[in-house]
Order: sequence, then C-alpha cells, then structure tokens
Amino acid sequence: MNFPPLQSWIPGSQRPLVIAGPCSAESEVQVLETAQALAKLPWVKVYRAGIWKPRTRPGLFEGVGTAGLAWMSRVKEETGLLTTVEVARPDHVKDALAHGIDILWIGARTVVNPFSMQELAESLAGVDIPVMVKNPVNPDLKLWMGAIERLHKNGITRIAAIHRGFFQSEKTQYRNAPLWEIPIELMRQMPGLPVLCDPSHISGNRSLIQQVSQQAMDLEMDGLMVETHPDPDKAWTDSVQQITPESLGEILNNLILREQKG
Ligand code: PEP
Ligand code: MN
Repeated sequence: MNFPPLQSWIPGSQRPLVIAGPCSAESEVQVLETAQALAKLPWVKVYRAGIWKPRTRPGLFEGVGTAGLAWMSRVKEETGLLTTVEVARPDHVKDALAHGIDILWIGARTVVNPFSMQELAESLAGVDIPVMVKNPVNPDLKLWMGAIERLHKNGITRIAAIHRGFFQSEKTQYRNAPLWEIPIELMRQMPGLPVLCDPSHISGNRSLIQQVSQQAMDLEMDGLMVETHPDPDKAWTDSVQQITPESLGEILNNLILREQKG
C-alpha cells in the first residue's frame, strides 16, 4: 500500500502538523472563537470538532449534530483552516460531505467494529477525501491495520493513523495507556503511513499533554491532534483534558524537535 505524505493533502503543513479544536462543538460562538484563536498558531492547519459524540453511556450530551456542520463551514471561510469531524455511520459521511468538510476521522469506538468499518469504507468508495483512523479502544494492532486496509481497498489513499492510547483495566496516570510499541509497530508494518498522536485522549488530564506530545515527536510521529477549548473547565465533554488555544501555543513552543531520520 502506498500512502501519500501529509504535505500532499494538507497545504503548508510542516512537522508537527497540528489539528486542534474542541472535543465537542457546543455553539457557533464557541466553535468560531476557538478557531480564530487557533488560526494564529502557525502549526495549526486543521480544525477539529466532534459533531456526533460516541458516549459510553446514554443520557449524556451526544453532540449538536448536523447543525454544527454549518459552523465548521464558517470556520473554513473565516480562518482558512481545513475542517475535520468524526464520522461513525454512512449518514454522517453523507452529511459531512454535503457540508464541504475537508477530512474525516473515524473514532476509536468505531474502529473496533469490522462491520462498521466495512460499511463506512463502502460509503466512501469513489469519494476523494482524506480519512484519519484512530486506534481501536483495545490494544489490537491488526484491528487498526484492518480498518486502514478496508478504506484503502475502497479507493481511499490519503489516510493517516491517530494514536489515542488504549483502554486498560489497571489504573495508571493515563486515561488510555499509550503502549507506544503498538504505533511503532504500525509505522514499521505500514511504512509511509502518516501517524499523528492524540495526547488529549491518552492523557485524560491537561498536565500530561506536554510530555506525551514530546514523546510522540521523539518517536518521529508526523503531528498531533489536541483538544482545545476557550474555557476548558466549562467544556461539555472531556473538560479535564482540554486546554486553551494559548496553552497549546506554549506547549508547541516548548517541543524539542529533532531532525527526522530517512
Ligand atoms: C474525540 O476525539 O473526541 C473522541 C471521541 O476520540 P476517541 O475516538 O479517540 O475516543
Ligand atoms: Mn474528546
């Protein structure tokens, strides 16, 4: 399998490519305010927001739904940032495409299910859009690779993997154990595949984001996806791990980047 480099589908992207934005789109004001602040950071080229939220238990905020896609269009018009949302079903794909979303991502809870992955991959056949694939919730490299292969077989070639850590029943300092050996093995088995790290869902806590981001850079990952919110403590989802756009700027400034091998 050949994977085009990130630079070929994200104009102006340099290492690290940074994708940032709130865990969830909450209101048009929150989405635009966050985007305006992020657009000032030179690494940030792509704006993320969860529109349909996969919640572990029912009864919690499940996302603003399709209404949020129009807010993402405004982000693109007003900041020039590319936009990305999580899709979990073919109707999400259809809606996102109809609203001009630039890049799709598939979440950890969807990647675990081969039926969902197959259905999503088939809904993307003939569609020319890049897709980012998070690791499955459980530490199963084959499942992660299988999801990527299903997309590739359906004609999607602009693919990136996102390492967001793995569920483990033992309590550790992380929300999701990084198990770095798994993305390292993915990079070995799928050479050329762009790999980003999501320090937010690995950490589960804003105090760990700097060090997890640094580890990803030390492993020569291509970029970061970081959850950012103008008032993180008031965020409707994942409030403990979100950071302000200003803190993201500081974290990125503190990163030590070594020259990439090969
Ligand atoms: C998210 O990015 O907000 C999200 C739900 O992530 P994950 O699929 O990694 O849990
Ligand atoms: Mn989140």
